[in-house]
Amino acid sequence: MNQKWDGSERRKSLRAKAEAMVANLSPAEIATQPTQILLHELLVHKVELEMQNEELRSAYVALEAARDRYVDLYEFAPVGYITISREGLISEINLTGSTLLGVERSKLLKRRFSQFIVSADRDRWHRLFLNMMEQAKANGDKHEFGLEMAHADGSAFYAHLNCLPKLSADAAPVLRIALTDISQQKKVLDQLEHLAFYDPLTHLPNRQLLKDRLQLALAASARSRKYGALLFIDLDNFKTLNDTLGHNTGDLLLQQVAQRLLSSVRQKDTAARLGGDEFVVMLEDLSENAQEAAIHAEISGKKILAALNAPYLLDDHEYRCSSSIGATMFCGHGVAEDDLLRHVDIAMYQAKHRGRNNLCFFDQAMQAVITKRAELEADLRVALEQQQFILYYQQQISQDGQIVGAEVLIRWQHPERGLILPMDFIPLAEDTGLILAIGQWVLETACAQLKRWENNPQTQHLQLAVNVSAHQFHQIDFVKQITDILEKSAIDPTRLKLELTESMLLENRAEIAVKMQALKAIGVGFSLDDFGTGYASLAYLTQLTFDQLKIDQSFVHKIGVNHNDSVIIKAIIGMTNNLHDMQIIAEGVETEAQRAFLEEHGCALCQGFLFSKPLPLAEFEALLPKS
Ligand code: C2E
Ligand code: CA
Ligand code: CA
Repeated sequence: MNQKWDGSERRKSLRAKAEAMVANLSPAEIATQPTQILLHELLVHKVELEMQNEELRSAYVALEAARDRYVDLYEFAPVGYITISREGLISEINLTGSTLLGVERSKLLKRRFSQFIVSADRDRWHRLFLNMMEQAKANGDKHEFGLEMAHADGSAFYAHLNCLPKLSADAAPVLRIALTDISQQKKVLDQLEHLAFYDPLTHLPNRQLLKDRLQLALAASARSRKYGALLFIDLDNFKTLNDTLGHNTGDLLLQQVAQRLLSSVRQKDTAARLGGDEFVVMLEDLSENAQEAAIHAEISGKKILAALNAPYLLDDHEYRCSSSIGATMFCGHGVAEDDLLRHVDIAMYQAKHRGRNNLCFFDQAMQAVITKRAELEADLRVALEQQQFILYYQQQISQDGQIVGAEVLIRWQHPERGLILPMDFIPLAEDTGLILAIGQWVLETACAQLKRWENNPQTQHLQLAVNVSAHQFHQIDFVKQITDILEKSAIDPTRLKLELTESMLLENRAEIAVKMQALKAIGVGFSLDDFGTGYASLAYLTQLTFDQLKIDQSFVHKIGVNHNDSVIIKAIIGMTNNLHDMQIIAEGVETEAQRAFLEEHGCALCQGFLFSKPLPLAEFEALLPKS
């Protein structure tokens, strides 16, 4: 037994010896000792051989098991292991990885990893990726971050990525990523955050978040110099509702109030619930001008009052509830947040004091502006009823001195304040919607005048240009309104020209084109007013067929003063004269030099103080040539 197996030569010779011996031996001889020894040795070697095989086999089995274990560890680890190339393509991925992405592994290889990152996070990923690959040659540091990723079925999950840039076995830079789905943890964190910063009943931001946002808003307004506003909203008689119909009904009301607040403000504004029936709305970025900003705030406040005033349906009960709003303006860090919140609170109590369903400003000066506006609005309604408006006519002149028509410009003959110019009431009329009735009156009056001129050879050729406001033009039934007026007055539609401004044409081009086409088809003309002040582009002129283009007076006034503006005017005239059927008119012509320049460069028509100011009808008619 102590003889060791030491090579195939010895094994072969032993076997040969033994076989030869056994073949020639008689039974008696086999029983002799030397033979016994030899046989014994053979036996030992046989056993030794078998033992070796066994060892090998078990080593092999152990190896197999280890390999399975390794593959299991790699494939089924709770982590997606992904290797991506310098080009950002997936070169290796384990089973968990392909399950996380929702695509079979064979179809993932060579796919771009960034395709599985939601678009909002993709830019950040690209920056991180470039940065990490820079380090790959030096076998860089580990990087950890979170990303929102997309499963192949379209659902998103929140992933934690542990990345190691390194060189692969063949010296190519690669990125090894260990990817874990942490959506659950993220959800819990988000819920915690939601609890800390949002009101659980309405899901609006709570007082804490409002204060954070207010702080940011103050800093932003300090930079932009634009005013913002706080509106403090308190429901009238909420306590009575709670006491009579119970807390559940009260909760329903608060939830609906929150919804209405959200739909009354712009996306960038904040609507928060402080508790009870107290809400705050923060408006940002209103205007650099304090009064203008206050007017914006008032318009938003009125909108909220109206929205909250509409009936609610609470468990089959129809319920009505007015509210009171206090407002204050802010710009920069002049007033601390807590003081601002105190100020709106005080203003809200003033509003309640004045009678419910009211809005009150904390700032005296702002309140004065708003009160004046409210008075003006009331006056405007009276003006409409009592026909206090009049039209002035400003002649439009051709190069040979003929009056071809007039632009009608509205004036308000106020019983106490005298003649008021449009600048002082048209903007308010636009904000309050009164412009619709006013615009209707202007059109009817202008058409009635055209009718009166129809049978007189001195006046029958005259055209009237009427200013149309955006609000008016964007009415769904604008075309019908005009055709009704034309029918009622029974005039030749080609005598009427509507003036639109560029800013009205920015949205809904298709709808605008349809309206213009419909009216043009019956002969109504269109003039593009204030040309050059807005977002003038050739596209308007080619897509929307205007008959006339009106160079804004700001350019005309710079003729001979500013070389660039003179060049622009020349270009506008040249361009317009090249467009088929488009006529050009200059407004605000005040001097002979301006007129001469315009004539020289081919501008067919002029309007301005040089010829005449806008005049009441009789005075305008007096200027017409007598036959
Ligand atoms: P607009 O359409 O640009 O009207 C031209 C304005 O320039 C008129 O002011 C006119 O009096 C003034 N103007 C005319 N010639 C000269 C001049 O040589 N030099 C100077 N410096 N100014 C001149 P107005 O009448 O005060 O009207 C102001 C604006 O009010 C109008 O600007 C128009 O946008 C609006 N508006 C006037 N009437 C109506 C109307 O009936 N409806 C609507 N929606 N808006 C109107
Ligand atoms: Ca005009
Ligand atoms: Ca104009």
